[in-house]
Amino acid sequence: MQGSRMAELKIPARVLMGPGPSDVDPRVLRALGMPLLGHLDPAFLAIMNDIMEALRSVFRTANRLTLPVSGTGSAGMETLLVNLLEPGDRALVVVQGLFGQRMVDAARRCGAETHVVEAAWGEAVDPAAVERALGQIPGNVKLVAVVHAETSTGVMQPIPPLADIAHRAGALLVVDCVTSLGGCPVEIDAWGVDAAFSGTQKCLSCPPGLAPITLNARAEEAVRARRQPVQSWYLDLTMVMSYWGQERVYHHTAPISMLYAFREALQLVLEEGLEHRFERHRTGSQALAAGLEAMGLELLVTRESRLPSLTTVTIPAGVDELRVRRELLQDFGIEIGGGLGPLKGRVWRIGTMGYSCQEKNIILLLTAMEQVLRRQGQEIPPGAGAAAADAVCASRRPRA
Ligand SMILES: *Cc1c(COP(=O)(O)O)cnc(C)c1O
Repeated sequence: MQGSRMAELKIPARVLMGPGPSDVDPRVLRALGMPLLGHLDPAFLAIMNDIMEALRSVFRTANRLTLPVSGTGSAGMETLLVNLLEPGDRALVVVQGLFGQRMVDAARRCGAETHVVEAAWGEAVDPAAVERALGQIPGNVKLVAVVHAETSTGVMQPIPPLADIAHRAGALLVVDCVTSLGGCPVEIDAWGVDAAFSGTQKCLSCPPGLAPITLNARAEEAVRARRQPVQSWYLDLTMVMSYWGQERVYHHTAPISMLYAFREALQLVLEEGLEHRFERHRTGSQALAAGLEAMGLELLVTRESRLPSLTTVTIPAGVDELRVRRELLQDFGIEIGGGLGPLKGRVWRIGTMGYSCQEKNIILLLTAMEQVLRRQGQEIPPGAGAAAADAVCASRRPRA
């Protein structure tokens, strides 16, 4: 074979304002490029310990079993469901969009008798409906699973009422925190969440590739009390734990460079401080919402249920939505997302996650959006979006 015919790798400059991944801080990129260590090197074991400790702070938990699974957010979902569910167990999944539906699929593949309680896409599920659904299932329900921040719709599902309901029924509460962790309050212990998973590439602003999980003593006990081994060898927590725990038994080679990056990303979260980070996401999403509304666009979700990390915008009649996204990317280097499932062709999904959630990006997006919509004959007051967003940010800025 001759030498490679591929051109040198070149990555176009982008501002990532879609549903993930988000942009990452240059410090995280530098960490990715550091020399490799062996996965049992004491220097690497120290990095693993730092990550587990930082992760407990970010999840706001004292759970011993808190670690990043090798794989993206979906691997976190799969890890919790395959370890907690056995064939014949009963599960109830709260579904308000695509990611809830995926948990239904995954729970059924574990052989669990899986029940569903649903809300319309764009709305949260009423806790009373969850309570009724649980009451109608004959026999013990092992777990209730719910998405905290539904990235397909932009809806926030309040967790504490669901924890009470699940616990009264004797079930564990499992929460998908992929688009909430690091972007808005997630209180694993105070809310009574038994097990949760997240991903690195949304509000934590690290490349995709790890899935932080946490399980409390009750959930850990449920894993230990299984009648049969976990069907997935790779995601079997009893084996994963003996690598991350005291024993340090080889199971699979840890993704070394990803773990460097994740340590740096977690350190950035802790340096900023969780409260400041949440405030930055609140301000960013409110500035974005104000800007979009000033441009005459409508948001899908009511103010009370909106996520600070993802905004769904209704596509105006007569607009070619794909062309808007293509021109934002080609002409302005900005990525936003389209709709999924029943919202395909009906909404855009704009992320304000982690490092991407900065005023300069929001102003750039609103300004670019104004241009590409005007190309399709939409009448938009010039500069109105950027001005409204800036007014929101200015009102929150500490005075000099
Ligand atoms: C992105 C996302 C996932 C899946 O994460 P991947 O990293 O894509 O595997 C799961 N749940 C929610 C709510 C998400 O936004």
